[in-house]
Amino acid sequence: MPKLHLITYGCQMNEYDSERVAGLLRDERYELTETAQDADLILLNTCAIREKCEDKVFSRLGELKHLKRERPHVLIGVMGCMAQLWQGKIQERAPSVDLVFGSAAVSRVGELVARARATGAPVLETGEAPLVKITARPEAVGQLKAFVTVMEGCEKGCTFCVVPVTRGRERSHSPASIVAEVRELAAAGVREVTLLGQTVNAYGRDLTPATDLAALLELVDEVEGIERIRFTTSNPYNLTPRLIRAIRDVPKVVEYLHLPLQSGSDRVLGRMHRGYTRARYLELIAELEETVPGIALSTDLIVGFPGEEEADFEQTVDMVERVGYDNVFVFRYSRRPGTPAATMLDQVPEEIKARRNSRLLEVATRVGAARSRALEGRVLPILVDGVSRKNPDEATGRTRCNRVVNFDAHGRRLLGEVVPVLITQALPHSLRGELAGAGAEGRVLATAAV
Ligand code: SF4
Repeated sequence: MPKLHLITYGCQMNEYDSERVAGLLRDERYELTETAQDADLILLNTCAIREKCEDKVFSRLGELKHLKRERPHVLIGVMGCMAQLWQGKIQERAPSVDLVFGSAAVSRVGELVARARATGAPVLETGEAPLVKITARPEAVGQLKAFVTVMEGCEKGCTFCVVPVTRGRERSHSPASIVAEVRELAAAGVREVTLLGQTVNAYGRDLTPATDLAALLELVDEVEGIERIRFTTSNPYNLTPRLIRAIRDVPKVVEYLHLPLQSGSDRVLGRMHRGYTRARYLELIAELEETVPGIALSTDLIVGFPGEEEADFEQTVDMVERVGYDNVFVFRYSRRPGTPAATMLDQVPEEIKARRNSRLLEVATRVGAARSRALEGRVLPILVDGVSRKNPDEATGRTRCNRVVNFDAHGRRLLGEVVPVLITQALPHSLRGELAGAGAEGRVLATAAV
């Protein structure tokens, strides 16, 4: 049987696509291998969101070139956002690459690989194609969590972002195809699904009849066996009162929202073309906290966007303090070809970006730690998903707010179960807990609304 080695960079959408590719190639009799050395086909699923991600890919391709010299029959392919952005330039820069294909061609991966093998000529497929729901996936024994792509593309046109170029316009999968996929996952033992889309809360408006994410969440909630539903990434611009109510009312939807702010300064938000102001964002946070008390929030922030002054940056720091995020992902602005911000004249020097990055992380860590400490003494429902990395005698799982909790399971096999755990200590990257005894379920319910 030929062997496939898959290397995935970037976001959860890429992880999802990689699974689909592995599933489709399994139908072509390829089996997955962990090492590039014994593979017959090596695919790199790439990310173009930052220059650093691209450098990593080219450096890996440089290493693989040597492997191909030793084993010339090995095929090397590049898929994902870099394929879409750089197209034929990838093979110009890395001639050992046999095939380059974008997300629209994923469903035809078997045919593309066969063509590259039969002709020995470079294959390039980066055009548009109708949206296809691919449900093929590799055999996943004991998988408890899964991603489900519900829409592709984005039409927001944020001036720093390459996604509208690489993933095209917004296209939603039908509710029926999504529910069918979630049912299959549940039948295979999956307990938690994360619905994915670049702007997931714009879901459904391109469908006929139009629908929305709140309606989809209700449908997914009905799937038996699924315990928790997450969704990402939401855009503040599309956050509706109806969706906020769905977070409160649809039982399996967790009380956690990732809501990218990107900057706390109206001047920068305007230049980013984000479509909301700082005041509007704060209004949304107030509405979320009022409707879903205790909701956990995380965000993405960019430091060093062109023209960002010290005062703009301070406004971003202020927002982290005000909102009190559980988790913050900070990125240094990276110039992306073809985006409006790349040609803005007032680019910020790297050393200033680095300084702002460290300062913001410091504040975010302090704020996140306070949020963690607030969980001490509470009994929370934990979905057990494995054993602790540091101590194999301990179980590990996640809260509904997505915090990792390690606790002594007293020898009980709890994998896949939701159990009440008393949070005893907040550590920098996780929580410690104790399995709560009889009667704790009541306390779970009592504390859930806190
Ligand atoms: S909404 Fe997100 S994916 Fe769409 S353009 Fe803006 S940053 Fe990119």
